[in-house]
Amino acid sequence: MPSPSKLKAIFFDIDDTLFSTSGFARAARMASVKAMIGAGLKMEAEECFQELSEVIEEFGSNFERHYDKVLLRVPRERYAGISPAIIIAAGMVAYHQTKFRELRPYPDVVEVFKLLSQTPLILGIITAGLEIKQAEKLIRLDLTRYIHPRAIFITDQLGIGKQNPKLYQLACQHMGLVPACCMYVGDHPLYDVDIPNKVGLITVHNKRSGKYLKMKGNTDPRYVIKNMWELVDILRREFGMHI
Ligand SMILES: [Mg+2]
Repeated sequence: MPSPSKLKAIFFDIDDTLFSTSGFARAARMASVKAMIGAGLKMEAEECFQELSEVIEEFGSNFERHYDKVLLRVPRERYAGISPAIIIAAGMVAYHQTKFRELRPYPDVVEVFKLLSQTPLILGIITAGLEIKQAEKLIRLDLTRYIHPRAIFITDQLGIGKQNPKLYQLACQHMGLVPACCMYVGDHPLYDVDIPNKVGLITVHNKRSGKYLKMKGNTDPRYVIKNMWELVDILRREFGMHI
């Protein structure tokens, strides 16, 4: 068993690790589709959802004009006599309202973060995405109180992607730690397991939700979990932590 002092920090991924990004996205998109139809767009919800999903796939989730593109793809008669701006705004408002209402962490994430924040462990974040968008998620999830303020690393902010081992090296260096003393918990078999494995972090594959559940990586994670209580078990059993 490694000595209890061996582990100094745990870095977490955000999407589909701290909350169900996929579940939330589905709910928010369906709400926006229904709102666009409510504003006068003549489409079936399923058909509109399908178009929206294709647009997101084709233009990327961080593109800012998904609803505009949906309208460009459907015949003009479907919203004859109605301002496209009203339909687009209805979609946007419904999306944001869903975000205010439903963007919540998994309950065990809050409980375990609370517990871990009472230990000497540094809790950090290594996440891929746009700077403010990822930061907004942490604020909405209400988790920043448990996270070390200098231990938040966002790819967009650093100019380094998750495909690059440098990202993980930089996070460890920045905290003055060697990778072997740092754990990374994430759901992507390649970016969250293979790459930090290469750097020498202790990898934990969070197999819980999301589109990468069935994807296979090239290397094995050190541990696999399905929820955060299983992480606590590992910390007790493998690292001798009394928590
Ligand atoms: Mg993820």
